[in-house]
Amino acid sequence: MRIGLTGGIGSGKSTVAHAWVTLGGALLIDTDAISRALTQPGGAAMPAIAQRFGPDFVTPEGALHRPAMRELAFRDPSARLALEGILHPLIGAETERQAGLAQPGQRVVFDVPLLVESGRWRQKVQRVVVVDCEESTQVRRVMQRSQLSETAVRDIMAQQASRARRRAAADAIIYNDGLTLDQLHREVGTLLASPLF
Ligand code: ADP
Repeated sequence: MRIGLTGGIGSGKSTVAHAWVTLGGALLIDTDAISRALTQPGGAAMPAIAQRFGPDFVTPEGALHRPAMRELAFRDPSARLALEGILHPLIGAETERQAGLAQPGQRVVFDVPLLVESGRWRQKVQRVVVVDCEESTQVRRVMQRSQLSETAVRDIMAQQASRARRRAAADAIIYNDGLTLDQLHREVGTLLASPLF
């Protein structure tokens, strides 16, 4: 079974993804890591990016120049579309390659931060699991693990789908608020044991 796992920043999505692996023996596919690897030095997306955008968007080491690209994508939506046009097929091919490594009967969990936002993921998975928590909890967790200010965290959250929209897309919701990590693991265990999965 293919499961799409999503949640807003700081919801606990990565923690749940790893619990799914340790408790349920799932194969985890980290689409963020795949996307980052494509734009590292020597990454498979770099030749097309250099050709389309030119040397100003490539670091001396050969990686994507993220600040320059962020600024361009902000000003020019067609540039963002062009970048996505390069990245999405490569991400799709790599996720399929990794999913193909699953053992017969092994669950495959796709960790997709923007599953609800992107639209193209829904048809690739049989179930969508959403990790949800209060916005104030998201802010607190992200501020604790990074150097970001509250405003910066809320800016990121504002670019993501709302909790309501994400919840509406879910086959199952893990409400990760007011839980210890042990309790969160138990929630994942309960879900794994349910007939839905
Ligand atoms: P996401 O992948 O959704 O951004 P993470 O799984 O990385 O979120 O969780 C964000 C932070 O909050 C991490 O440092 C994680 O250890 C912590 N965290 C998540 N859920 C809990 C919980 N139930 N109890 C304690 N800490 C938690």
